Amino acid sequence: KQRQPVEEARPKTPVKPMTATEVKVNVSIPEAAERAAATGADGVGLLRIEHMVLTLGKTPGRFIEQNGERAYVDEIVSGVREAAEEFYPRPVRVRTLDAPTDEFRQLEGGENEPREHNPMLGYRGIRRGLDNPSVFRLELQAFRRLFDMGYDNLEVMFPLVNDAEDVLRAKEHMREAGIDPEKREWGVMIETPAAALCIEELADAGIDFASFGTNDLTQYTLAVDRNNEHVADIYDELHPAVLKLIGDTIETCREVGVKTSICGQAGSKPKMVQFLVDKGVSSISANIDAVRDVQHEVKRVEQRLLLDSVR
Ligand code: PEP
Ligand code: MG
Repeated sequence: KQRQPVEEARPKTPVKPMTATEVKVNVSIPEAAERAAATGADGVGLLRIEHMVLTLGKTPGRFIEQNGERAYVDEIVSGVREAAEEFYPRPVRVRTLDAPTDEFRQLEGGENEPREHNPMLGYRGIRRGLDNPSVFRLELQAFRRLFDMGYDNLEVMFPLVNDAEDVLRAKEHMREAGIDPEKREWGVMIETPAAALCIEELADAGIDFASFGTNDLTQYTLAVDRNNEHVADIYDELHPAVLKLIGDTIETCREVGVKTSICGQAGSKPKMVQFLVDKGVSSISANIDAVRDVQHEVKRVEQRLLLDSVR
């Protein structure tokens, strides 16, 4: 009998605990996709495209002025493809562009960016996408090309929505780009108290999932700038108000059949993991280096819940 060399016999991904709650991973640069996939995560809970776009050195608007749409779309296709390929058939949730204006300003064409006192409260996320459809559509075209290439593990996520109107308009753009919202998994980030409070209306708009962007949800709930060191000590993702918004949203989502997830930094913290699993969240997306610990924490909480239920 021929024996396999030990190296080859070793499983490619570490053995992970089986959990009912999925544990996914956040990916911010395509080069990290391979390492992220090797964690054994159940998919990508947030694939950011900001890095792909910002490293091009020109604002999306400048690409359009120079008829460079094709190059812009190609870059997004190639970056997203790396993650979709590494994880296939595990799902990869790609988010449309969400960079604040101050990050675009450093690029060629950045002089045309609006000057804002509060970029975090300003022209970013879905509001920028809906206000500037010529750029927004290029992102959706890139996703459409990937679907056409067979990457049916992609899911589309919209950042910084406030209400059903944002979602319905985004959905219409998806349709116009040739992505059928009835056939594809798509959803939104819950990053503002408004979105959490309007969750029933967002669900009626047809979303498949809602993912808590706690980095922003915390800053907007507590009115604490996430980048301001002077108030850093009162920036608390576990503040009762933040947890109430999250808990209530999960409850409503469970009633109406919308999946819930977290993709903010807090998803890597044990206390948040305990809270979310207790509430019945569908998945948790953690930082690459935290996936393993989160898998074990989820397992521990699920076992405790099971024991509690039979006592
Ligand atoms: C968040 O707000 O929690 C989030 C994941 O989005 P970003 O950090 O990119 O704003
Ligand atoms: Mg955010």
